[in-house]
Amino acid sequence: MIVFDLCCAAGDHRFEAWFASSDSFADQQARELISCPICGDSAIRKAVMAPRVGAKSNRQVSVTVKPAAGEEQQQADGPAPELVRKLIAEIAAKQAEMLPQSRWVGRDFANAARAMHEGRAAEDLIHGQASPEEAEALRDDGIAAMPLLVPIVPPDLAN
Ligand SMILES: [Zn+2]
Repeated sequence: MIVFDLCCAAGDHRFEAWFASSDSFADQQARELISCPICGDSAIRKAVMAPRVGAKSNRQVSVTVKPAAGEEQQQADGPAPELVRKLIAEIAAKQAEMLPQSRWVGRDFANAARAMHEGRAAEDLIHGQASPEEAEALRDDGIAAMPLLVPIVPPDLAN
């Protein structure tokens, strides 16, 4: 374990934090997992070690920051990473379940999805390929399409 004197950008608050290693600190700093215990700012840098004397030194606060492995650490805003991971896993599992019933339409995906949406084709479960532009156009038109989270091999490339 290693202790660093840290300092937030917003308020210049000084505090100490423990890390598994210098790399662990750098990683958590880059991912903004460290926040100031006084104001919550996550723009954290190493404080200059020298000025530990004087009136300010008795305002230091000690905090313990989890080592890098503790990815479950929650951010103050946005959903917890664990929840997101769980949701993605659930969606991927559902997609894997649906894939055998789904029809591969390859590059025709955007056309086929639009045709179903407009009632020109029967509702069906399809999967295929779409360019980012096509995917965006579908979304703009309110057509439900979703990136596949399970790896698939296009049937025409399988051999
Ligand atoms: Zn602060």
